[in-house]
Amino acid sequence: MAVLATVLGHPRIGITRDLKKALEAYWSGATPAESLLATAQEIRSRHWHFMKEAGVDQIPCNDFSLYDHMLDMAVTVGAVPPRFAGIATPLNRYFAMARGIQDRGAGIDLSPLEMTKWFDTNYHYIVPELEPNQAFKLDPTKIMAELTEAQALGIAARPVIPGPVTFLKLSKFAGEAPAGSDTLDLLERLLPVYEELFALLAGHGVSWLQLDEPGLCFDLDAKSREAYSSALARLGACPKRPALLIATYFGSIGDNLSLVTASGCEALHIDLVRAPAELDAVLAALPTQMKLSLGVVDGRNVWRCDLDQAHRTIRQAVTKLGSERVMVATSCSLLHVPVDLDAEMKIDPELKSWMAFAAQKVAEVRALADAAECEKPEDAFWGQAASALARRRAAAATSNPEVRRRAEQVTDGMLRRISPFSVRIARQKEHYGLPLLPTTTIGSFPQSKQVREARSKWRSGSLDGAGYEVFMKEEIRLCVEKQEKLGLDVLVHGEFERTDMVEYFGEQLEGFAFTQNGWVQSYGSRCVKPPVLFGDVARPRPMTVDWSRYAQSLSDRPVKGMLTGPVTILQWSFVRNDQPRSETCRQIALALRDEVADLEQAGIAMIQVDEPAIREGLPLRRGEWSAYLEWAVEAFRLATSGVRDETQIHTHMCYSEFGDILASIVAMDADVLSIESSRSRMELLGNFRQQGYPNDVGPGIYDIHSPRVPSIEEMVALLELACEVLPVERLWVNPDCGLKTRGWPEIEASLANMVDAARQVRSRH
Ligand code: GLN
Ligand code: ZN
Repeated sequence: MAVLATVLGHPRIGITRDLKKALEAYWSGATPAESLLATAQEIRSRHWHFMKEAGVDQIPCNDFSLYDHMLDMAVTVGAVPPRFAGIATPLNRYFAMARGIQDRGAGIDLSPLEMTKWFDTNYHYIVPELEPNQAFKLDPTKIMAELTEAQALGIAARPVIPGPVTFLKLSKFAGEAPAGSDTLDLLERLLPVYEELFALLAGHGVSWLQLDEPGLCFDLDAKSREAYSSALARLGACPKRPALLIATYFGSIGDNLSLVTASGCEALHIDLVRAPAELDAVLAALPTQMKLSLGVVDGRNVWRCDLDQAHRTIRQAVTKLGSERVMVATSCSLLHVPVDLDAEMKIDPELKSWMAFAAQKVAEVRALADAAECEKPEDAFWGQAASALARRRAAAATSNPEVRRRAEQVTDGMLRRISPFSVRIARQKEHYGLPLLPTTTIGSFPQSKQVREARSKWRSGSLDGAGYEVFMKEEIRLCVEKQEKLGLDVLVHGEFERTDMVEYFGEQLEGFAFTQNGWVQSYGSRCVKPPVLFGDVARPRPMTVDWSRYAQSLSDRPVKGMLTGPVTILQWSFVRNDQPRSETCRQIALALRDEVADLEQAGIAMIQVDEPAIREGLPLRRGEWSAYLEWAVEAFRLATSGVRDETQIHTHMCYSEFGDILASIVAMDADVLSIESSRSRMELLGNFRQQGYPNDVGPGIYDIHSPRVPSIEEMVALLELACEVLPVERLWVNPDCGLKTRGWPEIEASLANMVDAARQVRSRH
């Protein structure tokens, strides 16, 4: 039998973001459920056909989702929190869990499930909410529907589901967890549902099932190891089931390998892009009945695969195991890359020849599987790939000697503010005369249709630079006016000129390129279009100074300058893989350092450098954390330390659980840190107190991911919670981030409540 080609999952959003549009039309009430479901079905069938024609031997199904695969699994195992039980229609219930639901007239006000980042990606999953005595019950509707749909199209698909241990590890208890308890305690209750599902799938002719267990790439404590060994052994012994592929990705399986090899499961998938050195150990330990899926085509980046290198890896496996035990695969699901490079008409052809999106990666997988038996493959496909790689290695466009020289000459002094925080904050307080619990927002305000139109007209040339400037300045003026009326203490300009917080900077920096359709799902219907960081990074001219200067000229209150931090720019771009990420990050930091200096020079006294992506960039294995954190913190300090004591540096992070990296957050030494915490009800702040976080903190008290307007009492309660945990003098009052995704009416109502809440709490202290 030949080496099989397989893919762990396909992007869901559609080449033209079809799913996004269908979802939003449905949510807005413009179209009925049938149109949404028809679009979804159309996307699935398109992708299945594509993969079939491309020669993928095992094609995934149930990798599609209307919102999120963890939410799908929660529904599949019957983990629907009681507050949603009253919603009769499954589709409405599903979206209510994802997005919350508020209908004042009907007296309905349900907050959604929490959302957090999927491992070290920029994808957010819905965190299943479980009860300590959770009862699970199989609801196979979705998975069976998609399976039957694929089968009807003549595709013997391989369903994908999150494995039970990863599912539980990524879930949380609703409310306070009983002391000493752990979601993993629910394993015994959950496994029968998996067994029931396995039997059902087997009964429907499913021969392979992909069980995603990226949790195996974490360092596991004894309890998790025990959970894995008992769960996998039990599932392996399940009498009626498909063959099981245990898929690990985003890191190395390392010492958790024995948990899988002992399980009796039929195949293991490993991520050889992230952990190339792992192959030897895996080959040595793999029991003879197990197959190995080699994740050699990078599912996290847009570069063409180094086919020769991947081929060597595959040869090594084939020699040891024989072809019938080897599969060639993408390193992880292709969810994290755009759909098709062929849809890019504007990107520089040379750069394009270095790249591969999902469609091209599928072809690479096939070509590699085809070549597995051959010592030295040389066909046209292979030749093109090799010559593209050679040209890329030799390209002058990727290297800027001046940038390299500067990066080498960074000194310790460049990484430190002039005075320590205690001195700075005293100067700053005096300087700005802010009240206790100052109010502010995180930066963006709604991007109306007109704003988006103006930007795109300007881009296409139908609106000239002067006209564009007039339009944007008017938006800024209105925004500043609204904030003053609302009574906010520290203002922002609103970020109307930005399509996206990374793209905006990437477009003005050298070393970045942009795609037209390179969309990747971030959460639900939200997509991002990461820039392609292909060369050395330099800043030819100031990027934000004119807008910020104008905004500040409109008000006596401070207006924060607004930048995206180096780690976030790195993390949310497709980054070159021909030099260490730390090196690329330092180059970005130097460019931002110049921008910070220019802002200060222009009279901008508070500068926010957003770093929402620091936490998500953490490697899965703790042993690799300190190296990462060291260069990440250094980059932030390099970008922000060149200012006077009076200049207040803010930073912002979303959805971060800081417990284990708080020392690094402290080391960033931002004067003010705003974080998201409304959905987690200030739970996150506990760590700040325990570890004595010294600088100012603004915990979000208004969840902007949901259209509901939080009441004053609700926000007072959150603020009081925050005051119990941290000294009131250190606290700021702000919403969570991302106001740009909401509408003005709800924002104005919510911010008015927020300012009121701050006043109330202020008066009590
Ligand atoms: N300043 C950005 C905003 O308010 C921050 C976004 C983010 O952290 N993701 O939208
Ligand atoms: Zn944020």
